Amino acid sequence: MNVPQPAILGRDATIGILGGGQLGRMLAQAAGRLGLKCHVYAPETDSPAFDVVRRSTCADYADEEALDRFARDVDVVTYEFENVPAHAASFLAARVPVLPDAKVLAVTQDRLAEKTFLADLRIAAARFVTVGHGDELAPALEEIGRPAVLKTRRFGYDGKGQALIRDGADLAEVWREVGGQPCVLEALVPFEREVSVIAARGLDGRTAAFDVAENEHRDHILKTTRVPAAIGPDVAAAAREIAETIAKAFAYVGVFAVEMFVVREAAREALLVNEIAPRVHNSGHWTTDGASVSQFEQHIRAIAGWPLAIPLRRGRIEMINLIGDEVEDAATWLDEPGASVHLYGKRSIRPGRKMGHVTRVFREE
Ligand code: AMP
Repeated sequence: MNVPQPAILGRDATIGILGGGQLGRMLAQAAGRLGLKCHVYAPETDSPAFDVVRRSTCADYADEEALDRFARDVDVVTYEFENVPAHAASFLAARVPVLPDAKVLAVTQDRLAEKTFLADLRIAAARFVTVGHGDELAPALEEIGRPAVLKTRRFGYDGKGQALIRDGADLAEVWREVGGQPCVLEALVPFEREVSVIAARGLDGRTAAFDVAENEHRDHILKTTRVPAAIGPDVAAAAREIAETIAKAFAYVGVFAVEMFVVREAAREALLVNEIAPRVHNSGHWTTDGASVSQFEQHIRAIAGWPLAIPLRRGRIEMINLIGDEVEDAATWLDEPGASVHLYGKRSIRPGRKMGHVTRVFREE
């Protein structure tokens, strides 16, 4: 069967977005600024992205009739989350270009496939072994040592599907905690800091990376991003080079994020890749107010076959997530000179739910 190939889209094109969360919403807002239309497809009736697009489909990802109608209405399909069901991605890819390519999803949806992909590219990551059954956990711990982090191979995000194993942990309990499903066991990395690179690759193969960001998590959820990261120029260059290597290996089209740990090895700093996210990323939200092009616009440009922008940073940046009831502080932030406030329009507040963010841009000394 002939698979539709990506093309350079016209100025009246419609972008299809799978997923209706804040990332889909901000992608649609960026597309709108370029004069493009968007159609969002998501199963949740209260999807924040529905509020800002020309058309929306509220249907299950298994609903082939709805997927077919969606495919006919759009010129390209992209997604705002990496756990897009493989069947939905391949069903759509037979009808309309899907970018980034579904093969990227297959790798990034499975921590083992992702680690194997990185190892093949000789990109360093935490030491790991696979754990297929509960009785493989003890020997795996012998090999990796403690403390270690057990992570489900699939469907993990914001620390979900993860368990830290310290001395004296009850292994049967830990195995239950992760749902008794196939896992990888990783050595706990004594990192100095966590950084991420947000980069894009265009249809023409050119790449462009944003400055390396430094991320602070709270309860496994990103709380603050600061740019530039407090790392030397050599480490920053190495981080961007890792992103470029990954983009080329995937023949990637669009924006993606690479999360990394910075570790000290004797006198020098080294990088270990933690995760690849094949989509726009929370640690790139600062770009909307803090750079000449946002990660969202860069992604839309890439999948539309338009030239990527060279991103220029506007100063020293701090991005703060408003999580759960912190959104109640929005009024204070609205009053803060120089702060840019973004609220995602989510109606119900839940602990750990990302409700909005604030960006502060400071003049660089
Ligand atoms: P992940 O879901 O893999 O992105 O992990 C979420 C967060 O847990 C990371 O951003 C780290 O703060 C922490 N974490 C995950 N894996 C490790 C590890 N092997 N060593 C130390 N911290 C980790």
